[in-house]
Formats: sequence, structure tokens, C-alpha cells
Amino acid sequence: MTTAADVLARCAELDRCSASPHHLERVHLTPEHAAANRLAAGWMAEAGLRTWQDAAGNQWGRREAGTPDRPDPGRPALVLGSHLDTVPDAGSYDGMLGVVMAIAVAERLRGTELPFALEVVGFGDEEGARFGKALLGSSAVAGSWDPAWEDLRDRAGVSLRQAFLDAGLDAARVGEAARRPEDLVGYLEAHIEQGPHLEAADRSLGYVTTIAGARRFLLSVVGEARHAGGTPYPRRRDALVGAGEAVVAVERLARDGGCLATVGRLEVWPGAVNVIPGRAELTLDLRAATDAERDAMWDRMHAEIAAICGRRGLTLEVVETHRAPAAPCAAWLQQAVVDGIRSTDDHGADDPLALWSPAGHDAMALAAVTDVGMLFLRCADGISHSPDEDVRAIDVARGLDALQAAVLRVAAVVAARA
Ligand SMILES: [Zn+2]
Repeated sequence: MTTAADVLARCAELDRCSASPHHLERVHLTPEHAAANRLAAGWMAEAGLRTWQDAAGNQWGRREAGTPDRPDPGRPALVLGSHLDTVPDAGSYDGMLGVVMAIAVAERLRGTELPFALEVVGFGDEEGARFGKALLGSSAVAGSWDPAWEDLRDRAGVSLRQAFLDAGLDAARVGEAARRPEDLVGYLEAHIEQGPHLEAADRSLGYVTTIAGARRFLLSVVGEARHAGGTPYPRRRDALVGAGEAVVAVERLARDGGCLATVGRLEVWPGAVNVIPGRAELTLDLRAATDAERDAMWDRMHAEIAAICGRRGLTLEVVETHRAPAAPCAAWLQQAVVDGIRSTDDHGADDPLALWSPAGHDAMALAAVTDVGMLFLRCADGISHSPDEDVRAIDVARGLDALQAAVLRVAAVVAARA
């Protein structure tokens, strides 16, 4: 049986599929991506799964319904998985842990009779680190691929279309990776929490209620660039001071309203030591548990920032650059994950902790084509997207038990429906 120690050892093995020997970096459609797929395919085959790489570069494994001796081919599939790509200078667990755990659970259930096919997927791009567009792999599977993405270029100027060719794939055929809703039972993903709540609650595991969809804006505060010495305060229309007040207001409103808002970039023109800033541009990323809370928070922020600009004689220009809907986890799959956690000896397992995910996941894209559920595992100090990412073996052991029990719970529900 694949143990937590085996799972952690496999995560360490995947670390070697990297663009650099000094840090972990594995982005979409690179030789290291292909190497990670090969490694995962080998483990999938060992677990008794038939393997293939789809037209979008995602790695799959599948066993049929029934048992190995008496298979019942062609049934809809319950898919377990996560992503195999990383950010630059990544940790070992964001994504990979979910793929390796999925393979381990498939191996544990190898001889178990199931009323659905069981599939494992390692998505080739979730982070968007190479082409700036996240969820490329899972969007292809969900059938929500946009051919315009094929013109996106990486830092070296290589188009996504060319990267497909370099990887032995053809972007024109990416539609073949799309799955039909009637061929899927649902999608379950295990992932590190990437936040501190499980650790603070002294728990290994939690279940996800919804994955937040962010809204992003580019805010331009426009004043007047003038001489830093010759312009007394009553005559100044300093765009940066207005933008600075806006940044502080964004934090205060988000904190008070239970949302997460981040100004990640602030640029100032003309950007000279002796010129009052005439223009400041800031980005805003806004997330909340529900779209309604997020949208109401934006309305409040917009009004407040407009008022700040009004008081200072500045004008405000707003461009929305991104908006994604929240992806709620299906109630029945949330229940399956809850039952899975209850089957473990986790602290407080009789009353599992519900979490909303402020971070995006493949499950968001999959939600367009099937029901989704997520299991979160505690990670050290909530750290992620860093080589300091860490998980404890006990949490992985409980996570494996919970994911396995969740699959069996889904099997019971599906069998009862038939
Ligand atoms: Zn991830």
C-alpha cells in the first residue's frame, strides 16, 4: 500500500523535473513538464491505471468500473487530481501532492469494486507561470479553451502555439482534450491549504465550500505634474498621495468586510525626485467567499476611492482587467469530503472545518463541466509558492485515508442512484 512516506518521496522525486538544479521551476510544455508526466504515468501504471497524455499536455490514468477481474468499461468517471506545473522557485507540494495522493488512492482501491471509472489527472498548467494565463490544462478539459490564448507568448517570445509543437502536440487539436459532462461523475482534488487556518485550528484536514473568483482592476489616479519646489500645497494635485490614501482605504475596507484585497503594483509618472506625481496607476485584486460579497465590497471601495480623489482634485479612471465567478463545491461532494475527514483520527474530525479558498484551483475550471469537491491539507505556517512549503507526514496519512473514504462515499451515492 502506498503510504504517506511514499507520497512524500514521490513529491521529492518530482522536484528533480526542474528547469534548474538549484530551484524547482516546472512550467507548461517544457522538457521538465514532459519528464514529470512520464514519472506520474509510471506511478499510474503501477497503480493499475491505463495512461495517456491528452491533446493539452495533461497526464491521465484510468481504471474501469467494476473490478480488475470483472471490469464494466465505458462508465462515467470520478476524476481525482491536481496540477504538476509550478511557479518559479516553487515548493514541492502545491499541486503535485494532490496528483501523487490521487495515484496512491487509486492504488489502494485497485481491487475494490466501483460503480464508476476512476481517473487520475495531473494538469499541465494551473499556475499560468509561462504564458500569464492560468488554468490552461483544466480549461482544455472543461471545454472552455479560447483559441486566442494560442497567440500568448512567454518571456522568450515563444507563442503557446509553438510551445505545443515543441512538445510534440498540436494546439489546433486541443479540443480533443475536452470532456463531456455525461462522461464524468465529479472531480475531487486534494491540495495544501496555502493558508494558516488549519494550522491555527490544530487540524490536518478541512473541506472547501467554494473557490473564490477574483476581480482585478487597474486604477489610474490623475492629478497634475508640477515643480516640487514652486508649487504650494493648496495648488498641488498630487496623484501619488491620493493613490496612497486609496491603498490604505482598500486595506481597511477589506479587513473590516472579511474580504481580501491587494494592491500589488503601483507606478508613478513622471517618477522624478523633484516633480509632483501627475499620474499614479495601481492594480487591485479583490476576493471574497461569494461573488455578492466581493461585488458589494468593490462598490464600497470604488465610492471611497472616488471620494478621496474628489477631495484632492484628482480624477479616477477604472478598468476592470479580470473577473471570474466563484466556483462553489457541490453539496454532495462537500459531504463526501466531510465523511472522508470524519473517518480519520484528525483533531476535531467529528466536526470538520469548512474553508473557502481565496486561491484559484483546477477545480474552478472543472466546475464548468462537472461537480467538484476539495480536501485541504495543513501546510506549515500557511506558506506556499515558496521552497519553504512543507507538509507533515501525519497530515498526508490522514489526507490519504480521507480521500479514499470520500471516493467510497461517492461510490455509495452513485450506486444508490442507479
Ligand atoms: Zn495549486
